[in-house]
Amino acid sequence: MTTQDTSDRSTSLPHLALSAHAHNREGMLRTDDDWLAARWADPTTKVLVVSGTLIRPVEGAVSWVASADAPDDGVRVLLGERDGVTRFALLCDPTTVPGEPEEWVSLRGVFRHLAEGGRDEAPLLFHAIGLAEWHWATKFCPRCGGKLESRHAGHELVCTSCGKPQFPRTDPAVIMAVTFGEPGSPDERILLGRQSLWPAGRWSTLAGFVEPGETFEDAVRREVMEEVGTPVGEVAYFGNQPWPLPASLMVGFMARATSDRIDVDGAEIEEARWFTREQLIADAAAGRVVVPQSVSISSSLLEHWVGQSLAGGW
Ligand SMILES: [Zn+2]
Repeated sequence: MTTQDTSDRSTSLPHLALSAHAHNREGMLRTDDDWLAARWADPTTKVLVVSGTLIRPVEGAVSWVASADAPDDGVRVLLGERDGVTRFALLCDPTTVPGEPEEWVSLRGVFRHLAEGGRDEAPLLFHAIGLAEWHWATKFCPRCGGKLESRHAGHELVCTSCGKPQFPRTDPAVIMAVTFGEPGSPDERILLGRQSLWPAGRWSTLAGFVEPGETFEDAVRREVMEEVGTPVGEVAYFGNQPWPLPASLMVGFMARATSDRIDVDGAEIEEARWFTREQLIADAAAGRVVVPQSVSISSSLLEHWVGQSLAGGW
């Protein structure tokens, strides 16, 4: 179970559906002002208006407008081209956008739409919101406190005082399915944890941020030890998922525990428990255990290990 199996992943693992149909980011054209102006003016071009880091869905779906219908002020971000259509995001100050404030929602507010047929839009949306989060949180030069100016169609911020350029950040986080016992045997178990703030019955795989100077594999071992006190040996890459909430890249692993010892930290994790496949399938079906569903990589990790989809979910 720790070996890489890429067969049929694209159809069987839900999180990968969100990464399918990626757009061409046209990175080489981000400095071509004439081309950018021509694409912006083209009537077929589509613009996603972003208020701070929020978007305004129409009937639950992501709403794209013609550039002529977009607000005048804002930072133009080139997302790229797909199916012959150029896509921009326009990053606006919340005081300049139309509509009532409550009409604007975070990325989480359209997850249901993305999971239920709008998944083709996920790469564009993740690109747009990831950059919006970065622009929103990056107001001044970290070296001299100077004003920043957007360059490269929104993909670079340059200090107008000292000239220091900044680039969008992505923070890697590891997420892991920790297992113990003979791989594939009925006795093999998976380790799930729950946070104290979660509603009763909710369980998930463990996760945590990678620290500076640390490998992914060591981050997996450290996080599992810190959170639940379980020693981990072999760690194998599983897959990854962009998660711009606000700037994560979730990197998934299958990890093998060398002991079934559990000693929860009581801080981040309130309780941790081992489940066999049979227990997990039965507990999920009975609603005793609620695990992540749909578009999260945690769901993919669990379903990959269990070998089937699980009932319920959050
Ligand atoms: Zn500066």
